[in-house]
Amino acid sequence: MHNEPLRTVDPELHELVLAEERLQAQKIRLIPSENYASAAVIEATGTVLTNKYSEGYPGRRYYEGQQIIDQVEVLARDRAKALFGAEAANVQPYSGSPANLAVYFAFCKPGDTVMGMALPHGGHLTHGWNVSITGAFFKSVQYQVRKEDHRIDYDQVRELAREHRPKLIFAGATAYPRIIDFARFAEIAKEVGAIFAADIAHIAGLVAGGAHPSPVPHADVVTTTTHKTLRGPRGGMILCKKDHRKAINNAVFPGLQGGPHNHTTAAIAVALKEAATPAFKEYAAQIVANAKALAAALIERGYDLVSGGTENHLILIDLTKKNVPGKVAAQALDAAGMVCNYNTVPFDPRKPMDPSGIRLGTPAITSRGMKEPEMVKLAAWMDRIISKPEDAELQAKVAAEIAEHCKAFPAPGIPIR
Ligand SMILES: *Cc1c(COP(=O)(O)O)cnc(C)c1O
Repeated sequence: MHNEPLRTVDPELHELVLAEERLQAQKIRLIPSENYASAAVIEATGTVLTNKYSEGYPGRRYYEGQQIIDQVEVLARDRAKALFGAEAANVQPYSGSPANLAVYFAFCKPGDTVMGMALPHGGHLTHGWNVSITGAFFKSVQYQVRKEDHRIDYDQVRELAREHRPKLIFAGATAYPRIIDFARFAEIAKEVGAIFAADIAHIAGLVAGGAHPSPVPHADVVTTTTHKTLRGPRGGMILCKKDHRKAINNAVFPGLQGGPHNHTTAAIAVALKEAATPAFKEYAAQIVANAKALAAALIERGYDLVSGGTENHLILIDLTKKNVPGKVAAQALDAAGMVCNYNTVPFDPRKPMDPSGIRLGTPAITSRGMKEPEMVKLAAWMDRIISKPEDAELQAKVAAEIAEHCKAFPAPGIPIR
């Protein structure tokens, strides 16, 4: 793309970018939070908009010269509101974690009680987990999934909420393969007088494309990243009811951040335009269809899936019965051209740095146009590798097969060189 100046000024860095391009092109990328942003989105991030300071909001800035930047931010904001049917949108959060922090800052004081899903059960660090600032500065109550079926235990959520009366309840996950019942959460929050925040970082693209129910009608606030299933640049966004607009805006700026990243805002606007197309609706549906096909093929090969399958973009495999630790499997798969991450499973007896599972997702491979037949192939490749995780020769052989296979599925945003 615009690599000519980079190659001249910094050949060392340029080489690294090309090497990363090759990795992303030749491997089957299964990390559920990753994707391939389109060439248009990537182009927007590499623009002169990065040169501009614009603390404040459109029409109310602390710097002059905002004739164009205001239009960019309004465009992104309006597209976000239209796509998700939201009353208000803030497109300035630097990423998903700062978006969540802004929500705490908008509604809570240090020491207040908050509630979220426990990290080992699929929740995010920023939902009050103990090592996070959100666990350190607030009194955090954590709910879990049920042992029997690995579904969120809504009865426990309600009990805990009635007992602890949290100011804020977070719903949303990084490792939960099932539909989240946002209406149920809203009901519980209402009963105890809590603010209900839905964090759709992972599933924003599914929500936008109609492949997962939307929390927007139910939640006071909805936070998201823009770079996962939504397929935009790395960034964050907050949607909210009109009544919370002021509190959220003040929390993001000047509460938490300085100047917005205008090049990112521009790329978010592009991604939101792409996400409003019929093609994106098809994309969202195909992500779920692919995840279901991959899950079925894995189950057929004797794999034990958390919750018994998937209803979204994500699969968690419990490898206990296969006698392979998650980390060993993830490393072997990477060597064989399939990139995923090791992950705890609910009630994991092993340690977080050496857990029992791996986590897979279909957003990136679906962006490359892979469909159900490719999922069956993928399950076979995975099974070959996980069955013999020490076989380096086999890994090299499969990696070559996969690199060849990937040539038929060009990755968006990656030039063919
Ligand atoms: C990824 C994620 C975040 C954090 O996003 P970053 O951009 O990595 O800060 C927050 N919440 C959930 C549920 C996520 O999956």
